[in-house]
Amino acid sequence: MLYPWGHSRRFNAYPDYMKKTFGERVQKLTLDAGFSCPNRDGTKGTGGCTFCLNAAFNPSYCDPLKPITQQIREGISFHEKRYRRVSKYLAYFQAFSNTHGPLDLMIRAYEEALSFNNVIGIVIGTRPDCIDEKKLEYLSVLSKQFHVIIEYGIESVYDETLHRVNRCHTFKETSDAIFRTAEKGIQVGGHVIFGLPGESRESMMKSADILSKLPLDSIKFHQLQLFKGTVMEREYNDKPEDFNFFTEDEYLNFLVDYISRLNPKFIIERIAGETPPRYAVIRPWGPRYDQILVKFEKLLEDRDVWQGKTFEV
Ligand code: SF4
Repeated sequence: MLYPWGHSRRFNAYPDYMKKTFGERVQKLTLDAGFSCPNRDGTKGTGGCTFCLNAAFNPSYCDPLKPITQQIREGISFHEKRYRRVSKYLAYFQAFSNTHGPLDLMIRAYEEALSFNNVIGIVIGTRPDCIDEKKLEYLSVLSKQFHVIIEYGIESVYDETLHRVNRCHTFKETSDAIFRTAEKGIQVGGHVIFGLPGESRESMMKSADILSKLPLDSIKFHQLQLFKGTVMEREYNDKPEDFNFFTEDEYLNFLVDYISRLNPKFIIERIAGETPPRYAVIRPWGPRYDQILVKFEKLLEDRDVWQGKTFEV
């Protein structure tokens, strides 16, 4: 059976979308351009989000002290060894908030990455309160020539949770940034965490309906991971009863119900988080990401669910 996204997988999966769009696999190159975060440098706050351990997401070749050109060269050589047939790349500005700071700094970083012939676009990870009209205007023009996607940290649709994890922005700011980005014709993605303290399974499930109304192109889901050294680790040690971690089975079943309610237009880029073993996670679960994916797809089949099955416009 072919689903509305044009293939037989039961969800609108990112790799298939990229293959359809570009005719081949496109590899992301994670970069650290040295941008800061307003929730750490005092612009909005100083402590950062309670769950944040940015280093856990950066591959080893990422180092803000290295020029972008060097990071790209090292990234390509790293990926060439793993995936011999990859010839197209997206520069992924992932660390911290990559639209925080003056526009000319952003332009310099993005355009240095795009000067490589085989870098066909950029993915910009940022916060919803780090974007303005001028930046959107520049990215809108750039997106006519390259594949440009802004990926906002949504994390939760509930202000109470955002406050509790010290995000220092509201969901209204998130939703406004997503609408303004889409209105400029720029692709827009979002990142959501399941399992944040204070959220019940029901309230998390309800977020499928809330998010489905936004003009998102793609979405990533992560289970809450508790990293050593974070504020959240201390909170957990003080009051473990405030946390209700998913087991792997619970999470996958939750996600099956969730994507049944999710807008079928959303491309799902990720269904769970994966952390390099060098970063200790308290209460870890799950084998490798590809194995989680296989289990998820089997569960979709067993339960005869697909993305958007129960989605209501
Ligand atoms: S999660 Fe993002 S916004 Fe929060 S402290 Fe870390 S880099 Fe900043």
